[in-house]
Amino acid sequence: MMLAALREEVLAMNQMLPANRLVVWSGGNVSGRDPETGLIVIKPSGLPYDKLTVENLVVTDIDGTVVEGSLKPSVDLGVHRVIYRNRPDVLGICHTHAPYSTSFAVRGEAIPAALTPLVHMLGTDVPCTRYATPGDEDTGEAVLEAVGSTGMVALVHRHGVFSMGHSASESVKVALYTEEAAMTIRMAQIAGPVTEMDPVEIDRCVNWYKHNYGQ
Ligand SMILES: [Zn+2]
Repeated sequence: MMLAALREEVLAMNQMLPANRLVVWSGGNVSGRDPETGLIVIKPSGLPYDKLTVENLVVTDIDGTVVEGSLKPSVDLGVHRVIYRNRPDVLGICHTHAPYSTSFAVRGEAIPAALTPLVHMLGTDVPCTRYATPGDEDTGEAVLEAVGSTGMVALVHRHGVFSMGHSASESVKVALYTEEAAMTIRMAQIAGPVTEMDPVEIDRCVNWYKHNYGQ
């Protein structure tokens, strides 16, 4: 079996989605890309999370040809492939319909840059794409239009969230922080309008986070 370590990570990160209520049933998916070979490890299509194993994850190349595995890859593979092809820095992608984040996506709204924990990480709001065909490469193109060459997360209009990272783990981390901020902002909006942070303060926060956070 190839890519054993990456399979372990992609399995663990897929399991984070139902554990954190970012998905229901078999919705959503996480993939990881091996930096050496460029191969992609992704969740199989329609398989409930409690049936996932390191063995039944699917390995494909950048064109979507299955290299190892007997199950069909996620229907969102085309979206992942378009993002990987255009963003060499991205080695992990997470897709969910997390409800608070998607409550912005359904309205075609960005999640405002209003809370430091998410803004420290992203340096921006969470943009929302135009409407795009689900599962199709069109969704990947819409995400790239919204995030540009450096953004790590976008909402997809009327659909859900695609987050990216330098690993599968990082893509799930971004999805979790995004959902936490979306939930808090939605609750605060019950009390009244929520304003965005000053751009100068955002830049200062991002720099502070880069130099101080972690060990
Ligand atoms: Zn979806």
